[in-house]
Amino acid sequence: MGINESQLATPYFMIDESTLINNLETAKLLKDISGAKLVLALKCFSTWGTFETIKPYLDGTTSSGPFEVRLGHETFGGETHAYSVGYSQQDIDAVLPLSDKIIFNSLSQLDAYYQQCAEQASLGLRINPEKSYAGQDLANPARPYSRLGVKPDLLDLSITEKVDGFMFHMNCENKDVDAFIAILDHISVTFAAYLDKLNWLSLGGGIFFTYPNYPVEKLALALKAFSEKHKVQIYLEPGEAIITRSADLVVTVIDIVENGKLTAIVDSATEAHRLDTLIYKEPASIYEASEEGQYPYIIGSCSCLAGDQFCETQFDQPLQIGQKLHIMDSAGYTMVKLNWFNGLKMPSIYYKRIDGQIELLNEFGYDDFKRTLGK
Ligand SMILES: *Cc1c(COP(=O)(O)O)cnc(C)c1O
Repeated sequence: MGINESQLATPYFMIDESTLINNLETAKLLKDISGAKLVLALKCFSTWGTFETIKPYLDGTTSSGPFEVRLGHETFGGETHAYSVGYSQQDIDAVLPLSDKIIFNSLSQLDAYYQQCAEQASLGLRINPEKSYAGQDLANPARPYSRLGVKPDLLDLSITEKVDGFMFHMNCENKDVDAFIAILDHISVTFAAYLDKLNWLSLGGGIFFTYPNYPVEKLALALKAFSEKHKVQIYLEPGEAIITRSADLVVTVIDIVENGKLTAIVDSATEAHRLDTLIYKEPASIYEASEEGQYPYIIGSCSCLAGDQFCETQFDQPLQIGQKLHIMDSAGYTMVKLNWFNGLKMPSIYYKRIDGQIELLNEFGYDDFKRTLGK
């Protein structure tokens, strides 16, 4: 007896394996042509119940904090890359035995832990290339006074005696292959002397190579040429590109109120369950909506935050209380950011396999809420 989707209690995430596999096939094509290795950025998506699907396609994981390192090592395997904006001594003690590569964010962090780490892991340093492609200042690693990475004027060639690789992460949802190649060319010129002495180069995440009609082959050939020119192994650290469009957040209309506009209140909230909608002011898309629909609604959250809404959209038919809505493209930066604001019920997580079977990956209850805040 399988799980019947129409009977599931909302809110829940439904991750779709076939979409995930489509994205992963594109990633494989990119790897095969370019020779680059791809490590999954766990900060975007850490729902490890799906990793059996992802593992055969990618080379390992990268992380932004110590628990992600451990999770990658335990549940994904392959190469484990550890990066952190700031490691404490305890962090280093914890991640060193689990990591193939340790990437430091500053020269002072590299100095502090060089002796301890140099023999056990391949070391890297994050560099700020002073060029970036990011739609929003909040997500722009090359913004003024950025704390992310070392500026080139602080470097000299002696650094290549301490580190085997550099990491640059300067893209956010970059769909423009030529804009990426321009940054790559800038790196090739500016850092040529370093690159010729390094073994590997990570170009970070944020390259949207699974976006519809993205010229994957053009990207792959540019990466291949770069790695041949400088004799470095290239890594990419995709997050969003791997899981894009692969999950819906499914909610139920709980109430409909009118105050100048009609608002459908649903049993979820951006602040608790889809935080980036709020932080980046990027409205969500609803599967049931219709561009030419005659019935406009605000899709409002059931949190107490006045401005907490998923989007404004319109439908062909009036919405009904009790009706389910599918908030699309809800895999990345959602499940990793769930919180208990307002004591709302946290969405369950389901996985629809390619054979149509639905698996429950996790569900949460009152005891989880209570345990988070005391014991
Ligand atoms: C956020 C991040 C990534 C993943 O970015 P996506 O936009 O999800 O591809 C990769 N590397 C680093 C260092 C990051 O901070």
